[in-house]
Amino acid sequence: MAIPGSGLAKGLAVTLRTMTKKTVTAQYPDVQPELPPRTRGVIGLFEENCTVCMLCARECPDWCIYIDSHKETVPAAVPGGRERSRNVLDRFAIDFSLCMYCGICIEVCPFDALFWSPEFEYAETDIHELTHERDKLREWMWTVPEPPALDPRAEEPKEIAAARKAAEKAATAAAAEAAAAEAAAAAEAEARPAEGEQQ
Ligand code: SF4
Ligand code: SF4
Repeated sequence: MAIPGSGLAKGLAVTLRTMTKKTVTAQYPDVQPELPPRTRGVIGLFEENCTVCMLCARECPDWCIYIDSHKETVPAAVPGGRERSRNVLDRFAIDFSLCMYCGICIEVCPFDALFWSPEFEYAETDIHELTHERDKLREWMWTVPEPPALDPRAEEPKEIAAARKAAEKAATAAAAEAAAAEAAAAAEAEARPAEGEQQ
């Protein structure tokens, strides 16, 4: 049988414990929250990487990515070569009033043109303002955090390995070229007095 008043004592104990605990309420907006590095705040567009492949727009479950483009003819790189055509971006916009922050567009982009930024302070009083056009999406790129450092025991990414090999190859070729030029200059210098003696 419960002792009379024990419930009240228990309740008071809980109140006292809570009163003496450190407060965890974030005083936003006076204090900015400490967000985890992979926070999904807003999407930034690195336009230079976008090839207008349309994958992101097709895979977006909310159909909130709007892309317009036109084709341009690129002249042949070498004489007698073939002209090529490429897509040129006219419009890239994301409607954040529809976006559900699933991240599919970022995952599927094969050219690393979309990135998460932790910025979240872009509330608007007019819903139309939540459609961010390419200039705005580009501005968000400045707020994208650096990628975390690789695990020291991780395999070297193949892009970095390829770039390193290409740089090494170029350095070896440049060194060989410099050595050949040096040898040619030395041979020329050696030949010059002999020519002088003949005269
Ligand atoms: S995060 Fe998801 S919903 Fe938002 S634009 Fe990308 S794919 Fe669409
Ligand atoms: S998937 Fe990437 S490259 Fe393709 S249109 Fe979207 S942002 Fe551009």
